Amino acid sequence: MGAPPPTRAADRALTRPRRRSLAALAALAALLAVGGTVAYDLDTPDPAPADAPADAFSAERAYQNVQAIADRPHPAGSPANDQVRAHVETVLRGLGLETTVQDTVAEEAGQLSGAAAGATLARVRNVVARLPGTAPTGKVFLVAHYDSVQSGPGGNDDAAGTSTILEVARALTAGPRPRNDVVFVLTDAEEACLCGASAFAADHPLAADGGVVLNLEARGSTGPVIMFETSRDNAKLVDVFGRAAPHPVGTSFAVEIYRALPNDTDFTAFLDRAGFVGLNSAYIDGGAIYHTPLDTPAAMDRASLQQHGDNALGLAREFGRTDLTALRSGHDATYFPVPGGLVRYPSWLVLPLALAALVAVAALGWLARRRGRTTYGRLAAGFGLALVPIVAAPLAAQLLWAGITAVRPGYAELLDPYRPTWYRLAVVALAAAILVAWYALTRRRVGPAALAIGGLGWLAVLGVVLALLVPGGAYLTTLPALAGVAAGLVALGTRIDGPWPVVAVTLAGAVAVVILLPIVVLLFPALGMAMGGVAALFAVLLGLAALPVVDLLHPEAGGQRGMVAARARRAGALPAVAAGLAAAVFAGVGLSVDRFDAAHPVPTHLMYALDAGTGQARWLSRETAPQPWTDGYVDGVTEVGDFPGLGDAELRGGPAQAANVPAPKLEVLADSGSGSGSAEQRTLRVRLTPQRPVRLATLHVDGATVVESATVNGRRVDGARPADGAAWGFGLVFHAPPPEGIEITLVLAPGSRSTTLRAMDASDGLDAIPGFRPRPPGVGVVGSHSSEMLAVARTYPL
Ligand SMILES: [Zn+2]
Repeated sequence: MGAPPPTRAADRALTRPRRRSLAALAALAALLAVGGTVAYDLDTPDPAPADAPADAFSAERAYQNVQAIADRPHPAGSPANDQVRAHVETVLRGLGLETTVQDTVAEEAGQLSGAAAGATLARVRNVVARLPGTAPTGKVFLVAHYDSVQSGPGGNDDAAGTSTILEVARALTAGPRPRNDVVFVLTDAEEACLCGASAFAADHPLAADGGVVLNLEARGSTGPVIMFETSRDNAKLVDVFGRAAPHPVGTSFAVEIYRALPNDTDFTAFLDRAGFVGLNSAYIDGGAIYHTPLDTPAAMDRASLQQHGDNALGLAREFGRTDLTALRSGHDATYFPVPGGLVRYPSWLVLPLALAALVAVAALGWLARRRGRTTYGRLAAGFGLALVPIVAAPLAAQLLWAGITAVRPGYAELLDPYRPTWYRLAVVALAAAILVAWYALTRRRVGPAALAIGGLGWLAVLGVVLALLVPGGAYLTTLPALAGVAAGLVALGTRIDGPWPVVAVTLAGAVAVVILLPIVVLLFPALGMAMGGVAALFAVLLGLAALPVVDLLHPEAGGQRGMVAARARRAGALPAVAAGLAAAVFAGVGLSVDRFDAAHPVPTHLMYALDAGTGQARWLSRETAPQPWTDGYVDGVTEVGDFPGLGDAELRGGPAQAANVPAPKLEVLADSGSGSGSAEQRTLRVRLTPQRPVRLATLHVDGATVVESATVNGRRVDGARPADGAAWGFGLVFHAPPPEGIEITLVLAPGSRSTTLRAMDASDGLDAIPGFRPRPPGVGVVGSHSSEMLAVARTYPL
């Protein structure tokens, strides 16, 4: 079959200007309406009042507990945390639930915090309450942590989860008893090391048979509650989530993103154990206050709390009546939010769909050429050129943020700006500007059909790549590609100047909006502006999927010459210029709106380290480019190898006056095999006792000594092998040490006649340190586990 000669007739569709602009307006209005619906669907529900029905979740009722819990910072082991625990116990007992406290020492699950080499432990006190089921098939665990960081009161993190569980417990006890046991687990020392959760999962009798875990978190102060993590083989769990959560926002792509982020929650400690399945939910927008003194009850968006509660209560009820023995399925689901619900399909469909999309795009190209709408050369050019905006938009977004951070360096220490909306809009406008500029430049030479098919080609290719590497994210490009092909087939199969091509490309654009807009919206808070390029990437993919609608914005198709062409080019450049201007204006408005002030302070990091043996003291900061306030304390980079408990090799440092603060005491309780007979192991039993209220204590053994085994308060811990040549080898960090101290037994390799131990402990707050000047308004504390830490160390040669 001879192919018909390529013509430009195809590109002359809709050449009558008025009809064309009407079509463009209608299509754009339709897409905007769809986008508005998507955004509305992602919005949080109104908080229910305190007099809401007894069996309903009320954010206003829950908020009273938020205020009680997050009155002040309450890290594990602090008197403030004792008060929070007492409050939580009182509320649960008041509901008639059998409530106990699991008081134990636990080791961190895996090596998660990275705070120091070696073992990380904590003394934890979990509050556990049980609502017995009528005919249990298993247990449902509602989990949140009641402790906070030392640097903030935890108004959201995790008073949100804790107060949600208390209010859900109230609502459940107000209604008929569920079939399955529901266990409320308020964990301790999550911030330190997830140690409360790992103690519960590993040792608590109620956890022995596993069950379904619903973990509730907050990493910010506002925004939709996202179900962002699941156990493996999640299809049935996701099914329950989709039908039982009143506002199900979740995507299988989030699990993959989350794994790439350096965050962990209590959920990790459960997943480390066999027998547990579950879902992890959090709201994450407003991340600027995360772990800072600004994470107060007043900062909480109670609409987010309402969504947390509505979903948790719906899920607790549904898992409370479901047969829990049949929750594991053989596969993961692909799932994503659409207005009104959650779409889900099994993972075995992912690769076939992705391959089908690829074949379909190729077939569309072949057909378009056969119909004389394009040529193979143009198709190849369209495919090649479509890579330009895919690469350029993320790059430009990263450059934009680099520029904004250069103007406002304090952003470097923030998860997200305090008021990020204008910056997010700037990134979206920038991506749009790049896409439409690229389109205006390439359209006349390559033609709309080849560019549209080229864009679909990349969506399909990315779908296959994602299906192989990140299967939960493949839907993002596969489904818009398939919708685009369907629209292309309609456009090729009907009269080009009829209404159907416009209707079809608008519908395909709507599919792309429904699928990709939520990801663009959710990626901004998830990754922060520093990774705005990722959101820009998905924004540009959305634009490529809707390219035929973009085409309608152009007055006439390619192929003209002379004056007409010049006018067309000028008109074609208009959207690009407008979007580029918008990006610049939005960025400028962002800079002027989001200034640092007393209510939105620039974050700074400072801590203090004293060697009680030598009397030397230093100010230390983790800021990479210190703020002016921090600059008053630190000069250059300094080695902190003598403080192995800090977990860093070097930090910014500066000289400080020695404070009168005692180092932790190290007593030798027993020392056997220390004689010269070197064939014998040496067993060293010591007690490490802080001499003041501290948040944590650490002990490290010099790098030349091999620790064969170690026990802490009778619990065996894994010793890290020292790195060759490192000054300090085996080490342990103990959070919330009891006042009577910690007993540590070290079994050292034969020949360890002399060894050196380095003991450190750390409290919080620098006010009492000589030379410390309180921060002026507008200078705040960065949300970090070492902010305002006062560390004291001493070397003990033994
Ligand atoms: Zn936290």
